[in-house]
Amino acid sequence: MKSSLYPVQDLHRRALAWALKLKVNPRTVRVQAMRRKWGSCSSAGTVTLAADLLDQDARFQDYVIVHELLHLRYATHGRVFKALMSAHVPGWQAMEARRMRMA
Ligand SMILES: [Zn+2]
Repeated sequence: MKSSLYPVQDLHRRALAWALKLKVNPRTVRVQAMRRKWGSCSSAGTVTLAADLLDQDARFQDYVIVHELLHLRYATHGRVFKALMSAHVPGWQAMEARRMRMA
């Protein structure tokens, strides 16, 4: 990812590919500087990913992307939310420690 000429576009494309796979339809996906979060999802359907994710490994990027995209369907981190996380990002619990910045 870091070696790409267009890392922001790659992260954006990765998020859109996940949106298709998860069958969710974000209104907008944007990558921007975020000071205290890795990602967010607004009730209007805007998913924002932290530009800092570009320095993280692909697996962690997927973890954040899937988490935020699932919020388009589930507002809270309930049982179904967690089951879908496990289905798509196995072992995601191991990354919880890095999740502090995430909503
Ligand atoms: Zn969340």
